[in-house]
Amino acid sequence: MNIVIFGAPGSGKGTQSERLIKRYGLHHISTGELLRDHISRGTHLGKVADSYISKGLLIPDELMVEVLADIFKEHPETAAKGVIFDGFPRTIAQAEALSKMLSEYGTDVHAVVGLEVDEDELVRRMLERGKDSGRSDDNIDTIRKRLDVYHRQTAPLKEYYLSQGRYHAIDGNGDLDRISDDIARELDQHKDKK
Ligand code: ATP
Ligand code: MG
Repeated sequence: MNIVIFGAPGSGKGTQSERLIKRYGLHHISTGELLRDHISRGTHLGKVADSYISKGLLIPDELMVEVLADIFKEHPETAAKGVIFDGFPRTIAQAEALSKMLSEYGTDVHAVVGLEVDEDELVRRMLERGKDSGRSDDNIDTIRKRLDVYHRQTAPLKEYYLSQGRYHAIDGNGDLDRISDDIARELDQHKDKK
């Protein structure tokens, strides 16, 4: 089973992914964490990524798809085992590239979990996280920019996956355990239907 965890910045993708990995034994691919790791190591990719991230912009599709393709090439077993994609895809072009890459391994995106959170709650969470995350993008100006970019470039993916019957909306406000339980219920129902 390959799952995409989808949602606005601050919607809790990372937090809920950690819980899903434990429950379903999936491999976790977080593009945000991967890029932050490159930034902290000062690699070439990290320097390029930082120039976009600190402005609240997305890394260009072509580069992002290349990064993903490299992960699959280096770890072909991950695609076979089942992956939870956290932070990817963020554009329609990335979604199309992902399906194409997965099809080369005889698989596809099976379910998209959409964490839906009120905008003022998103801002509150990111400002709270910014107090000790050390992230260059968790400040109010960059948060506003990220939300704007999300609405323009990423949110259209909801319609895209809805039209494919793969989108599962989850109320991402409120208690962490309740949200995990809701996700598990949706995914278990999805598995049973297959
Ligand atoms: P959450 O709080 O829900 O985990 P987040 O806002 O912290 O979400 P990350 O996934 O950690 O978001 O990504 C941080 C930044 O890394 C993004 O704002 C973007 O600049 C860059 N990035 C991550 N994934 C992608 C991608 N697929 N395409 C382009 N840029 C990306
Ligand atoms: Mg994250």
